[in-house]
Amino acid sequence: SPLASENLINSIESDANLVFLRSNENPYGPSPLARKAFIDNANISNRYNWDVATQLISVLAKRNRVKDENILLGAGSTEILDLVAKYVSLGNGNYVIAEPSYDYWTVTLDNLGLTKNKVPLTTDKKINLQAMLEAVNQDTKLVYICNPNNPTGTICEREALVEFVTKISQNTIVLIDEAYLEFTKQQSISNMVNDNKNIIVAKTFSKIYGLAGARIGYAIANKTIIDNLTNSQSNTNNSVSVLSKLAAIASLKDDKFVSNCYLLNENVRQYAISELQKLNCECISSNTNFIYFSLAKYNKDYFKQLENNKIQVGRIYEEQGKWTRITVGKMDEMKKFIKAMQ
Ligand code: PLP
Repeated sequence: SPLASENLINSIESDANLVFLRSNENPYGPSPLARKAFIDNANISNRYNWDVATQLISVLAKRNRVKDENILLGAGSTEILDLVAKYVSLGNGNYVIAEPSYDYWTVTLDNLGLTKNKVPLTTDKKINLQAMLEAVNQDTKLVYICNPNNPTGTICEREALVEFVTKISQNTIVLIDEAYLEFTKQQSISNMVNDNKNIIVAKTFSKIYGLAGARIGYAIANKTIIDNLTNSQSNTNNSVSVLSKLAAIASLKDDKFVSNCYLLNENVRQYAISELQKLNCECISSNTNFIYFSLAKYNKDYFKQLENNKIQVGRIYEEQGKWTRITVGKMDEMKKFIKAMQ
């Protein structure tokens, strides 16, 4: 009813003072072109509009230097990760993952019966590619690399990554999660799928494109893998709403918005790191829109200080060393965050 929607808006507005620095969203997004696409196309959302998926796939294929048949759309890259999990779990075995890394999605792998084979990071919090390689055995169904890594913000050097992926993919499926790659200058490894049947790249519009709530992401892989993933997605390419797809198409045209977000993020991140260091917090050099830092030498109750100031933040990832993650928000939000810590 109109009253119910009014209540909803009121309850959102009453939280207007909350600062969201927990989930690595883009505080500036969606892009103006994406906003316009949502509004202008609201009236066609009574139709399925299957052809919009075809349009978006064609744009994404060109951008990633692959064919249309190499792309699968999902409701966020979470759906893609979930489809990969279902696909590789059709049997017994294990999967190899860095620790800590992005692992909310791996519950599907665990529930379907795969064993988790965790590989510690290096002391400077990078993914240890050599150790990951050594952890792979004949029962390994999947190797997951989050590049750059969440929660640490570290990146694998491209040449080393390509060498690693080439080796592993001879026998095992490698999933490269590039959710944050647009915050770096590193080129995607998406074109490797052209001549390698065991590589899957997961991409999302949730981060630099600022469309987290629109739920849109995609997979890039060899056609056989895309077909296999599709087997578990009954609504192939159409779990995403037509509005989100059109907003994604518009976002891809808005290079200015993306480069602005990149620069703003760099600038605000640099400020936040230097302020955190002044508060005795060791920071890992970040390639993303978040910072991994240690509370070991911070002598106040971090979570209490932030809660008192209505700031939502990440949890502790590594008890030893008290490592936690903070999203890079807007400059005023980070100033509020630092002030709350002080
Ligand atoms: N991959 C990584 C590394 C993430 O950090 C996230 C979300 O934070 C996701 C995937 C899932 O994002 P989405 O489902 O919004 O595309």
